[in-house]
Amino acid sequence: MKYKIVNLNTSATTNPKSSVLIIYTGGTFGMALDETGSLAPFNFSLVIEKIPELKAFDLKITVISFPEPEDSSNINTRHWVDLGYIIYENYSQYDGFVVLHGTDTMAFTASALSFMLEGLNKPVIFTGAQIPIGFLRSDARENLITALEIASANNDGKPIVNEVCVYFNYFLLRGNRSQKLRSSTFAAFESENYPKLAESGVFIEYNYAYLRPHDPNEKLKFNSHFDDNVAVVKLYPGIPQSVLEQIFNTEGLRAVILETFGSGNTMKYDWFLSLLRNANEKGIFLYNVSQCIGGKVIQGRYETSKMLSDIGVLSGSDITTEAALAKLMFLLGSGLSTERVKDLLIRPIRGEMT
Ligand code: ASP
Repeated sequence: MKYKIVNLNTSATTNPKSSVLIIYTGGTFGMALDETGSLAPFNFSLVIEKIPELKAFDLKITVISFPEPEDSSNINTRHWVDLGYIIYENYSQYDGFVVLHGTDTMAFTASALSFMLEGLNKPVIFTGAQIPIGFLRSDARENLITALEIASANNDGKPIVNEVCVYFNYFLLRGNRSQKLRSSTFAAFESENYPKLAESGVFIEYNYAYLRPHDPNEKLKFNSHFDDNVAVVKLYPGIPQSVLEQIFNTEGLRAVILETFGSGNTMKYDWFLSLLRNANEKGIFLYNVSQCIGGKVIQGRYETSKMLSDIGVLSGSDITTEAALAKLMFLLGSGLSTERVKDLLIRPIRGEMT
């Protein structure tokens, strides 16, 4: 793929205090109305013209743009790997990374990158906007400027943030804990089960106790294989047996995320339980993730979940569906043994669950 690279003409001195690579993937941030009146992404050189403030930074800023900026609804595992590779390839040359991404699937991509980039010791900050940069009331300007501040922040030369995060509407969240919960307010993202990592006001106040600590001995490892033979099944009252049978009998299926009720409860119908049993016997991983955004799965708390552990369903505790999907695709692509994958599914590997 042909990426467009632009070095921004900032007010950086010959020895700027820091350097940041911005990767522009698309999203509302850089969209404009097309001839039909729908929002569609446009070229990043036009985006830069709309934020003259960028020039005031004493930072070396480089922008790499995806050849075709995408609405994030079109993002798939191939884009995840491209994005991870850009960061991996440029890792030693920049102090931090800002990823401009559509908000719709930002939490999925941020989760995927957290698994892909093992031993990360620099900030990778995802941000975007609910209103495009060219519009008067846009939130794009504040989101990008603060994301750049965070991506270049350090204490005594050590980066403050050493993980993949989402910065949006004054808050910094752990990427693999974040979820897009709202589409029409500026406060689009939350991380209900993990404290916010920073709040931007007059100062940027970091929540040091919850940030991943810096470890200079770790070397970055790039894991680039994702296996997307995963289904997400949201349970609902009255779900037909035939619908679930079709999904569970999908050719090549390797894992099912069961989005369950409350603290991990499901129906107890015989046909449903035998569907789960058969799937487990066929080697399909079954991962229990709650439909509730807050709280966690506790198999055995109710009688409607106590049979699940015996069947082989694994508890996702308080993981989000977004992180669960990225984690499963990552683990299935890792070539690890079944037992090892099961073991890693029930425990945190990048701070994605408690
Ligand atoms: N549909 C857009 C996207 O995810 C929404 C946004 O960026 O806010 O690309």
